[in-house]
Amino acid sequence: MYDKNNIFAKIIRGEIPCNRVYENDFAMSFYDVNPIASTHVLVVPKGEYKNMFEFVNNASAQEQADFWSCLTETARIENCIDGCNLIANVGNGTFFYQSVPHFHIHLIAGDKKQDFSDIAK
Ligand code: 5GP
Repeated sequence: MYDKNNIFAKIIRGEIPCNRVYENDFAMSFYDVNPIASTHVLVVPKGEYKNMFEFVNNASAQEQADFWSCLTETARIENCIDGCNLIANVGNGTFFYQSVPHFHIHLIAGDKKQDFSDIAK
């Protein structure tokens, strides 16, 4: 079940501010508030999907197209289309931890600020 009060749902609804990188009809990207690298952007669909598999299984073709387009445009804007790390945590386990239950991909590049394990654990 999707939690409509998660922090990214509030950002998408405009109830909480964010530093936006790119937006289209069905997706948007914004800077992570606690970056682990000099480039650390979160890419989200605007629809209510709690993780990547729910998105892949249930989102419309247009939502999926807009999501991947948003990710690609964001990488272009951030000058990391030729080199970056893309991470999507799904649920919680011993070496992965999804703290926000709205599907997002971390786009990470540039200089390291914190350990990678800080978002993957
Ligand atoms: P997860 O652990 O779910 O894979 O990643 C959630 C990410 O959201 C974390 O990297 C965290 O720093 C980021 N985050 C949490 N709250 C906010 C917020 O209010 N604004 C922004 N821009 N990022 C947030």
